[in-house]
Amino acid sequence: MLNQFSKAYNSYNPQNRSALQLIAIPAFNDNYIWMVCKHDKAMVVDPGQADPVFEILKRYELDLCSILLTHHHHDHVGGVVELKQQTQAIVYGPAKENLPACDQALTEADSIYINDLELSFDILDVPGHTIGHIAYHGNINKTPVLFCGDTLFAAGCGRIFEGTPTQMFNSLQKIASLDKNTLVCCAHEYTLSNLEWAVTVEPNNETLQRRLFETKRLRSEGFTTLPSTIADELLTNPFLRSNQSDVIQSVNKYANTNLTDQVDVFAHLREWKNNA
Ligand SMILES: [Zn+2]
Repeated sequence: MLNQFSKAYNSYNPQNRSALQLIAIPAFNDNYIWMVCKHDKAMVVDPGQADPVFEILKRYELDLCSILLTHHHHDHVGGVVELKQQTQAIVYGPAKENLPACDQALTEADSIYINDLELSFDILDVPGHTIGHIAYHGNINKTPVLFCGDTLFAAGCGRIFEGTPTQMFNSLQKIASLDKNTLVCCAHEYTLSNLEWAVTVEPNNETLQRRLFETKRLRSEGFTTLPSTIADELLTNPFLRSNQSDVIQSVNKYANTNLTDQVDVFAHLREWKNNA
């Protein structure tokens, strides 16, 4: 429990080139471009910018072989064309969205195999934030990993721009049903502000209080708070806890309602967070 606020993902270890490494590359103000690499090969997820990726490729003498996209927003795809032009990487992305460059269009039940890294991923449809949003689920060094873009965040979830609350709720439930030790690689460093809001929803959740404390420490020391795990999210993320009586009570108090349905509670939570 609460064991994955790891410092390991801030940096590449050049001593460990023969093992798969998972790295969070910061981009823009608070995005992460996830990279997986081994020997001299690398893949990235959602490169909204090309330059931070080029810099890492150059510094560690890596060749980019694959680009995985979760959805069409600019801060996730802005670097794709330039990266593809210069590296000839294969681009994977959601079939239901317009992307600047995509070689292989994916939907639920598809799976992909990244030959150069000997890695496979299953595709999950997770509509809500955008209508065609997908997530990539696989294993890195025998640990399950999920690249979920802007669907699930640490202690939060993406805004519902294109889908419905029901779609987003179902997408999050699908993610929540994965193995509890799954590393959740989301695309933004929103953890601290999400937790500060989450404690107003669940002031009596002690695990949440501890997570907030630990997150403040990590951020003050300049570390990323990701990846999270499904286990930690189930214990502390209000958007996965709309069946908990404390959460239901808080929502009803905030919205002056008397909701009992889990999806209604979720939808009101999302509105509450939008206005927070
Ligand atoms: Zn987005």
